[in-house]
Amino acid sequence: MQNIDLHIKDQQFYLPTFKRIPITFIKGLGSRLWDIENKEYVDLLAGIAVNNVGHCHPKVVKAIQEQAKDLIHISNFFVSPPQVALSELLVNISGLDRVFFTNSGAESVEGAIKIARRYSHSKDRGGKIISMHNSFHGRTLATIATGQPKYQEGFGPIPHGFVQVPLNDIEALKSELSEDIAAIILEPIQGEGGIRPADQSYLQEVKDLCEKHDIVLIFDEIQSGIARTGKWFAKDIYGIQPDIMTLAKGLGGGMPIGAFLCNEKIASAIQFGDHGTTFGGNPLATAASLATLQVIVEEGLLSAAKTKGNWLKDQLNAMMLESSLIKEVRGEGLMLGVELHIPAADLVQRLLKAGFIANATAINVLRLVPPLNIPMEDLEKFIEVLKEEIKKIEIEQK
Ligand SMILES: *Cc1c(COP(=O)(O)O)cnc(C)c1O
Repeated sequence: MQNIDLHIKDQQFYLPTFKRIPITFIKGLGSRLWDIENKEYVDLLAGIAVNNVGHCHPKVVKAIQEQAKDLIHISNFFVSPPQVALSELLVNISGLDRVFFTNSGAESVEGAIKIARRYSHSKDRGGKIISMHNSFHGRTLATIATGQPKYQEGFGPIPHGFVQVPLNDIEALKSELSEDIAAIILEPIQGEGGIRPADQSYLQEVKDLCEKHDIVLIFDEIQSGIARTGKWFAKDIYGIQPDIMTLAKGLGGGMPIGAFLCNEKIASAIQFGDHGTTFGGNPLATAASLATLQVIVEEGLLSAAKTKGNWLKDQLNAMMLESSLIKEVRGEGLMLGVELHIPAADLVQRLLKAGFIANATAINVLRLVPPLNIPMEDLEKFIEVLKEEIKKIEIEQK
């Protein structure tokens, strides 16, 4: 079978919401992927910052197999050993006090918004949520209300009670503060928005304002969390603790699992029955997640993300000095964005042809979020190919 065969069938049956690339993947291991024609790729996208420990890590595979044969699912009415273990671990590494498990990023953000409002209403304050321009928090109705207008078009009425301000503009934020505001949600490093980090001083001021006015601070670490930036969470680079933090993507080593965590102050406003989920945190998903976090510790992937990320960033910055195409290099650890002066889609296509998977986000930004255990040789090869392809584009443009 060829790549194109299943593509045709896929186009016949799947809702046309994704502009699919006609490549059919059938196998993955570590930083490598193979398509149905047996072509090998180096994966620098990692399922969009999901496969932080690489594809099909043997310890994650084993944990899934062993859990699947004992117990796949029970209701959250009951206790399950992997869920308890994962709860304890996440509380320990985050410095927050309580956790709730979900099945996706958007669901984590929805839950975070709900408990932030619950807390705010318990203090007789309003329920409005402030988010940032160019943010991305998911594709459900409430999460598109926090996000970019392009995701809202055609889906009205959009839930109200949401207001947006530019990132890193403290005066714009201050002008929206009132008794109506329940929470501020932001990504410490914006992902889909083009790998844009918040300024240290801005984040500190936001934190101070939240404390002063008793506004709930929510960090969305769905993309930046789980060792991606060289720390467990990007908040640890800034040394700033939110009231609520959302997770998903890298949390399950590929299994669909998300979470939100909060401090005791927020948790104390929650009562039995306030929120719920059928699948969230089931034994299979939490067993996979536990194994994933253990691999990160055992294989030293926190420091690996930092060292490899620094190396990659240095290389990209050096390329920028010699290239008329590269505008800026941004990000931390292995969450990097290369902003071009032109749309990045053409470059992404060329890389794909050469056997390297990356993607374009915010139109002009080449996003690099490879597995944290990607070998240095893969990164070296990638830099070589990237240089060649950029040179070719520059020549064609002249
Ligand atoms: C991907 C992402 C989401 C949405 O996650 P889904 O699992 O696709 O719902 C939310 N916030 C951020 C920061 C993300 O990167």
